Amino acid sequence: MKCRLCETRKNAVPGEGSERTKVMFVGEAPGEQEDIQGLPFVGSAGKLLTELLASIGLRREDVYITNVVKCRPPNNRPPRKDETNACKTYLERQLLLIAPQVICPMGNSAIRSLIESEKSVTDLHGIPFEVGNVTYFPMYHPAAALYTFHLRKVLEEDFRKLRGLLDSLPT
Ligand code: URA
Repeated sequence: MKCRLCETRKNAVPGEGSERTKVMFVGEAPGEQEDIQGLPFVGSAGKLLTELLASIGLRREDVYITNVVKCRPPNNRPPRKDETNACKTYLERQLLLIAPQVICPMGNSAIRSLIESEKSVTDLHGIPFEVGNVTYFPMYHPAAALYTFHLRKVLEEDFRKLRGLLDSLPT
């Protein structure tokens, strides 16, 4: 109830997955299906995310999936700055509790919220970089590949790179 989005949501969508995972995926905001079900990435972008995970041998329950804001913005408009700021404490707490070794911000909203950079996903995707003990691995948002066909190949390639990154981590 920290911002106006709680007034129009059906369900808050905190996130789901493993608390002991090495990797956390962060999207933008819940959409219609997510709002109805209270679960992240269960609509068409979620179907693609689930397939991309499967392509590198991961199930949804092996990772943690969440969003920058936990409530659906009306008509799926992008979340506003004051909304992402209000919700930031939840994401920060999730990062502390789950302590993933790799964080994948998907799309510019998540990149803006998690990374101190003016660069966009076009420049940053698929290139891991370390901040302290954490490796950030920015990616395109799966929804982008639903609108721009060639991005699906880019996402598939970035997921293959992510597999290599995860395999290189100390266990
Ligand atoms: N898009 C997002 O950014 N998050 C979801 O949970 C679903 C679609």
